[in-house]
Amino acid sequence: MVELGDDSVIYAFGPEMPPVLTVPSGATVRIRTKDCFGNQVQTPEDELDEIDWDRINPATGPIFVEGAVPGGALKVAINSIELDGQTASCTGEGEGVCGDRFSAWSTKLCKIEDDHLIWNDKLSIPLKPMIGVIGVAPAGQPVNCGTPGSHGGNMDNTAIGAGATLYFPVAAEGALFGLGDMHAVMGDGEVSVSGAEVAGWATVTLTALPELSVPDPLIQTATHFGVIASAESLDAAADRAVHEMVDLLCDRTDIGADEAVMLLSLVADVQVCQMVDPEKTVRFMVPNYVLDALGFEL
Ligand code: CA
Ligand code: ZN
Repeated sequence: MVELGDDSVIYAFGPEMPPVLTVPSGATVRIRTKDCFGNQVQTPEDELDEIDWDRINPATGPIFVEGAVPGGALKVAINSIELDGQTASCTGEGEGVCGDRFSAWSTKLCKIEDDHLIWNDKLSIPLKPMIGVIGVAPAGQPVNCGTPGSHGGNMDNTAIGAGATLYFPVAAEGALFGLGDMHAVMGDGEVSVSGAEVAGWATVTLTALPELSVPDPLIQTATHFGVIASAESLDAAADRAVHEMVDLLCDRTDIGADEAVMLLSLVADVQVCQMVDPEKTVRFMVPNYVLDALGFEL
């Protein structure tokens, strides 16, 4: 299997990024990632106002996938996530939902033991490993790795874990894929502005789908299929995700928009990914059994 180390990182997704690795469509790559602080917070003495903020939110890559072309899609199957043994969490002035309460940064380091994060001697939290930043080059201006969008990026979506498959709209030759910012566990919303930030390895299979056109990232999990949309507000992001799912059903099944909307209202869930980044992210998730009954296929 091909491995990619974490010395090749980007801080923005852009169409002009020089690739650090080229792989054939269908290749599986094991990718080393730094945490969102660029691994700069390792001890309780590492203050967030003293780190190099130009090295925040690194994504490892970019990877050029042969056969990925603008107008098509890149399929990314997440095979596994391996975490290092220590996480860092933070909040601070003006950050997250409660940034009005604070005048300085706070950080908390936690150890991972077996399948739990050790918060303190009374509380350990079951791990739910996920990838915060994952995406491809957008068209046009580069997008900072702290910001999500139609290209993916900092979506901070708890459904993006091992076993999930993503579909990204390709805007640049080779897609120029990258990922980073893994979390050992995070709640929907990411209210403090961080998850349990952790370095590690992600193993993904990258497949070019030149015939598939998608407006925003799609996600397939063991139980659900969804659209992931980012916008300036949660309301706007949810609107977009729902409309795009209705369009998918109208295009790919024999039901009309009115029936699709009534059906989705009964079975599909609007779920918050994150509400703390420059754009907010929502996923709209439909159970697989519903799509199977409709004969839906991508
Ligand atoms: Ca993030
Ligand atoms: Zn993160």
